[in-house]
Amino acid sequence: MRRCLACLLGLAAVVSVQPQQTVKYGVKVQPGPMDAVLLKDYRPESSLVVPETRVEKARFPVIDVHTHTFMNEIRTAADVDQWVRVMDEVGVEKSIVLTGAIGEEFARQVELYLKRYPHRFQLWCSIVTRDIEAPDYPERVVRELERCYRMGARGVGELTDKGFGLQEETRPPGKRLHLDDPRLDPLWRKCAELKLPVNLHVADHPSCWRPLGPTQERTPDFQHFNVYGKDGLSYEELLARRDRLLARHPQTTFILCHLSNQGNDLASLARALDRFPNLFVDISARDYELGRQPRFARRFLENYSDRVLFGTDMGRETHMYRMWWRLLETPDEYMPGRIWWRYYGLELSGETLEKLYRGNALRILNWN
Ligand SMILES: [Zn+2]
Repeated sequence: MRRCLACLLGLAAVVSVQPQQTVKYGVKVQPGPMDAVLLKDYRPESSLVVPETRVEKARFPVIDVHTHTFMNEIRTAADVDQWVRVMDEVGVEKSIVLTGAIGEEFARQVELYLKRYPHRFQLWCSIVTRDIEAPDYPERVVRELERCYRMGARGVGELTDKGFGLQEETRPPGKRLHLDDPRLDPLWRKCAELKLPVNLHVADHPSCWRPLGPTQERTPDFQHFNVYGKDGLSYEELLARRDRLLARHPQTTFILCHLSNQGNDLASLARALDRFPNLFVDISARDYELGRQPRFARRFLENYSDRVLFGTDMGRETHMYRMWWRLLETPDEYMPGRIWWRYYGLELSGETLEKLYRGNALRILNWN
């Protein structure tokens, strides 16, 4: 042991006299101004000159199955009018608003959207998550669902479990309401009975369960989503609970948003789709997963063209929608993207695009 320590000390002495030259990619690394650039500020500008296609309007009238009032900062009737103008400009026929609301707030949003634009919007409601220990909870959650349905709700969601249950981190482990909790079984049965599809956000991008540090995959701008070392469920456990829920309620239609957070591994998502006929996914906010693997993603979207729906979840600006059209419809390369990743166009076939943009939504959503 003592000898080994001497070895180490000796080595340290050599290093201090003659620092080792780092060679990366065959080039000797030398100090310079780039050493002072913080990771979060790094935004290289591309010199690549390649064809750029502008797609003003989507090729088919689009049904966007994943939008939010809070995210789109819609407060007034004028805000809704403005959004409808944007939808017209880019070719979105209908937007599904996942209100996150029940009770009074849901009624307010019904008034805001459906009174003037009954054919441009569809509203989905949330669920009761208060007093879940009370014996009447399963009955209460169904009663409020029926009330929202009568007011116009045509789906449920987005309901989110990133490992901490439906109430996020406000409750300790063991006291949390996860999606496969038996207390929610009557709710899922009622959804099937009323033909209300359910939008679920299960887990999150898998990089959230990896440490923040030099090997972290996504941008530092997303570090607040990280759950590494927290007391929630693991990514794998969350997907296992999703599977139990899907198996237990085969009559209920579940749309797992963000490619069920398996966009990084489309082969495993394909296996889940094969197993559960009541499972559908939306592609909202996973532009970066599709755009970084355009050939595999296109094959996936074409093979599962009856199971995937279009959604955005990303605001309501014209350039946001047009980024999607360019990604899905064109063969453009190295287009600017998020998470630092550049995208490659998928050039989807007309048949797949039509199903993704509207056909599947027309088939599985509730339009009564
Ligand atoms: Zn969302």
